Amino acid sequence: MSDGRSSLDRLAGRPILAFVAHADDCALFIGGTIRLLADAGCPITLVRFTDDCTDSDGLDPSETIRRNDRELQEACEILGIRHRHDLGYPSDTLGDVRRGELREHAIRLIRQVRPYAVLTFDPYARFGEDNQDHIRIAQEVDEAFWTSMFDKHHPEHLQAGLAPHGVVERWYFGRRVTEPTDVIDISAAMPAKTEAAVAHRTMMGNLMRQLTLMGRTAEVDSDWLGGVLGDQDAIVRRMVGHSTTEAFRVVRFSGFAALFDDAPRHRTIPDAARTDAARTDAASTPDASPRPPTSERPDLNGSA
Ligand SMILES: [Zn+2]
Repeated sequence: MSDGRSSLDRLAGRPILAFVAHADDCALFIGGTIRLLADAGCPITLVRFTDDCTDSDGLDPSETIRRNDRELQEACEILGIRHRHDLGYPSDTLGDVRRGELREHAIRLIRQVRPYAVLTFDPYARFGEDNQDHIRIAQEVDEAFWTSMFDKHHPEHLQAGLAPHGVVERWYFGRRVTEPTDVIDISAAMPAKTEAAVAHRTMMGNLMRQLTLMGRTAEVDSDWLGGVLGDQDAIVRRMVGHSTTEAFRVVRFSGFAALFDDAPRHRTIPDAARTDAARTDAASTPDASPRPPTSERPDLNGSA
């Protein structure tokens, strides 16, 4: 088991792509690691498959989308995420999407962003996973890792000017990662992770509502419920502060890592430049716009 330090060093300065289902997934599952990677000079692109139209309490879907979008933008700024792609599927419906459709999005984005490493849900971390949005992304991105290298998968991408691309490292995360290889110490990034989670006020408000409903069913004293759950930020801070680590199952070179152990490498980002990149990135937070220009947003054909 690695403490993750050398794994983070391998990724320093390299482009990173993260696939999530929902606005709060990044902060809650991998927020600490993402902040550490941003501090190490990694340009990070976040892909959110859904629009989170269902995740609020007492708001209509359009207002829910608007607030969750804004709060995700806040979280991205806190975590140092430079680019964001929203695929816009209605939340809690990915289980109904035709097989292969999510995979095509993932292949195209891998070919566009050309990341060194991809972070996504672990298709084998299903024990305790009750969300089909997470499960379907895990399954379809897992196939995109190798199909994105095939020239006969989605040749229309190649005709549009994209090229096959090989992701070197897969970083799988989840509620309970099966056989984790790396447990990242995120102590230094805890303030950012916590504040990014707190920024999701609408989604966390809906979580408080769910806790209240279960508490009522369990006949918990209503004054106690109102008092404890009424302080939403305190509950979120307690929930996030529960652990100062994030666990991943890391797979390198699709399991062929030993083949490359002694291979000569020619890094395009020398160590000194990577350090400079990290400093520049940390100093330019206001410039870390998480909203890509319109031209950078993916084609949403048939996705909504
Ligand atoms: Zn989620």
